[in-house]
Amino acid sequence: MAVELLSPAGNMEKLISAVNFGADAVYLSGKDYGLRANTDNFSLEEMENAFDFLREKGKKGYVTINIYARNNDFNGLKNYLYDLKKISPDALIISDPGVFKLVRDLKIDIPIHISTQSNVTNYMAVEFWRNMGADRVVLARELSRDEIKFIAEHVDCELEVFVHGAICISHSGRCVLSNYFNNKDSNRGECTHPCRWSYHLVEETRPGEYLPVFEDERGTYIYNSKDLCLIEHIGELVDMGVKSFKIEGRMKTAMYVSVVTGVYRKAIDMALRGNFKVDEDWIKILHSVSNRGYTKGFYAKEVDESSINYKTSAYSRGADFLGVVYDYISGKVFFHSKGKIQKGDLIEILTPKFNFFDLKIESIFDLNGVEVEFTKPNYDYFIMFDEEVQHNSLIRRYR
Ligand code: SF4
Repeated sequence: MAVELLSPAGNMEKLISAVNFGADAVYLSGKDYGLRANTDNFSLEEMENAFDFLREKGKKGYVTINIYARNNDFNGLKNYLYDLKKISPDALIISDPGVFKLVRDLKIDIPIHISTQSNVTNYMAVEFWRNMGADRVVLARELSRDEIKFIAEHVDCELEVFVHGAICISHSGRCVLSNYFNNKDSNRGECTHPCRWSYHLVEETRPGEYLPVFEDERGTYIYNSKDLCLIEHIGELVDMGVKSFKIEGRMKTAMYVSVVTGVYRKAIDMALRGNFKVDEDWIKILHSVSNRGYTKGFYAKEVDESSINYKTSAYSRGADFLGVVYDYISGKVFFHSKGKIQKGDLIEILTPKFNFFDLKIESIFDLNGVEVEFTKPNYDYFIMFDEEVQHNSLIRRYR
């Protein structure tokens, strides 16, 4: 079975980045109903343009409608589904059975993928959704390797697995922490991430005395999960018959999407050639983009303290994003600046084919050919370089 690398597309820039760096498909959302209220998302017009672009490139796009709907959502949803029918995405990603029924009732003939929000943790549940007419099931992120393997062996249904990105510490689709603390519903795309906050215990007659909270053998009380990274297991997941490898991160940057997509593209291609072997460069590159430290989550075993980042919920990243190459003409690398590059800097150029090379900056020019000391974000410049640099390459600098 062909496999698919599925990348997040929080907006058009990220969608193009994902495609340039090797995604077979992207998932995206309209302005409502899609569980990532805090990213740009797509208006209907932008979505039409996005699908024109994807079709031209021979790629697929799936639209998320994976909120848990309330009664008053359905009128708006009906109109939205009619609009989507005209755009005709390659699939709708749905979690709520009511939304599923609405799609069927309206005879919207678009394949349905069952979202990880539906918390599908066993082969019977996959069969249930398959019998209901779902075309694919995105498994819950709380499954171990053995459970995924068992399900893959016992169902005749496309399976999608999250392989990289932020994960919830609670069971998919069942967290109400954000509702409780902020009145923001994570099942409607508004999560404020209270699982990442730092907690202490305060006894009510001793205000100001913050007692630390520990763990015991029964579980975890501090919730800040490291990010999922299953790059080492891509070979065995391909062998198990998993169809789609999903990268989390519609709210992440275009650089993040490009780099992570590029690494997993390499890994999947190698697995498909039958000679999968982890390349140390992949790990280094994955650490260069924002992360909370990496964990295999539930994949290898029950999660334990090594899966949690107790020190900080802040992201770290090993490299800064400095620009995107948009042309190469006669030894001149033209780029759009995203940060400050100055003479003497050692930068890295990372191409969409995932070749990377270092370059010491001797001189920088603006588009009038005037030499400048440093770049400013959002302006265009060029540098001289003998080797041809691929369009859309990223310019980065390791910290
Ligand atoms: S609070 Fe944390 S665990 Fe809960 S939905 Fe938000 S990110 Fe997930």
